[in-house]
Amino acid sequence: MTIARARWSTILLATLSTALVAQGTPPAGGTGGRGGGAQPATPAMTSSPLPTGRVTYRTLTEANLEMERIEAAYPTKVKRFALPHKTSLGSTVWALEITHDVKTPSGKPVFVMTGLHHSREWPTVELPLEFIHDLLKNDGTDPRITAALEKVRFIAVPIVNPDGFDLSRTLINEQKRKNCRVQDGKEPTYAECANPLNAGAGVDLNRNYGAFWGGIGANAAPNGQSYRGAAPFSEPEIQNMRDLFASHQVVVALSNHTPDAKVLRAPSTTDEPTPFDVAQYDSVAQLLGKDLKWDAGPWPKVYYNASGTMEEQAYYTAGTFAFTFENTPGQRGFHPAYSFVVDQYFGTGAYPGSSSRAGYMRLLEAAADPALHSVLEIKAPAGATLTLSKKIVLESAPVLLSDRDSTRGPIVKQPMELTSTTVVPKGNGPFLWHVNPSSRPSQHGQELIAEQWTVSCKLKGKPISVAVTVARGAKAKVDLGKCQ
Ligand SMILES: [Zn+2]
Repeated sequence: MTIARARWSTILLATLSTALVAQGTPPAGGTGGRGGGAQPATPAMTSSPLPTGRVTYRTLTEANLEMERIEAAYPTKVKRFALPHKTSLGSTVWALEITHDVKTPSGKPVFVMTGLHHSREWPTVELPLEFIHDLLKNDGTDPRITAALEKVRFIAVPIVNPDGFDLSRTLINEQKRKNCRVQDGKEPTYAECANPLNAGAGVDLNRNYGAFWGGIGANAAPNGQSYRGAAPFSEPEIQNMRDLFASHQVVVALSNHTPDAKVLRAPSTTDEPTPFDVAQYDSVAQLLGKDLKWDAGPWPKVYYNASGTMEEQAYYTAGTFAFTFENTPGQRGFHPAYSFVVDQYFGTGAYPGSSSRAGYMRLLEAAADPALHSVLEIKAPAGATLTLSKKIVLESAPVLLSDRDSTRGPIVKQPMELTSTTVVPKGNGPFLWHVNPSSRPSQHGQELIAEQWTVSCKLKGKPISVAVTVARGAKAKVDLGKCQ
């Protein structure tokens, strides 16, 4: 197996070195002709060991059509849905929800994986989509995958930033990092975003999340490569992610990036406290570091400062154990030749023993582990709708006023409501709902903010509610037997 893969990589590299994979090659199965016929004869590459056998990067259209086809092919296991906010160019951002019996509400813990916050990081579209195919093809035969899809609801958003991806993938602005915002508060046109004069415009979407927004490790100036945006969640792409996290019990999350060989967790700047849950949170990070053979830890220790990131948002909103992978390192680019995507997925060839797939499987299984989240054991009638809710106030950093000095303005307070719903299935015994702990990590110290979940139940009559306290790793009994 290893030999076959290594040999495949060599052949593909030879092909790609002359064909320039970055230049918009046709999809697998398309014509192999690259014009002129002047190329030396090379073996025609028609497949790779990836679950789909692909040998080229997907385009935006291909990836979106593929998500539609995956849902159609696996109707009992996959539900595709649009995130609520269209991008500023009007693109829909798609998510795939994957689990056994996907259309039936359940109390399964949720694992969220994202790709492509940053436009030019094309491998981060490939790796999640290949993992989805891998899960679906091997469900029912691979016992680890079968067990994981029985226990966990996996939600993938392979392209958080479709506008930016399209601009980069079509090579109109290949090295684009940010989204298509050209001027704050104004909707851009495609022509404005594609205009070379606006090549440096846009908001860095992984600096636009609300938790610690405006701190160090982001630009206040719009032409900065890490521009944070006009306000926390100013960008529709990050409003989508905020709402996804606020409406599900996401216990584990991963943001895929390239190309720096790191596994990252919160805190993401030196201004933030050590997380309350550091022992458990870091133990998962270190195991992921072994799966990838990369340094693992908090951003400022193993990488650099970055404020307003996805893992800060997820951890400080709900205690979600959230991580970043910096995939396909060492190739002097954000989207190296496609063979490196293949090698990164399996941990073969250029990346021996460094497998994104292994990390993804570990995260899926971490989501299934009740020692890492909380469980509500609910007594309620079958068919009742249950709602879990909490009002919180998320905080930005004391906002840096410019990139030139360290003068800071006040903290931006962001009231939010977290609301998840499900329906009690028919069956014996209590209903188990896998949730985040009721108390939330403080943004000011290594401590928890004492909070409770409100659990409401409604069948046909008036809803009834109870307040519940539940710690990480613990189970709490909730009696809603009077619900009718
Ligand atoms: Zn990135």
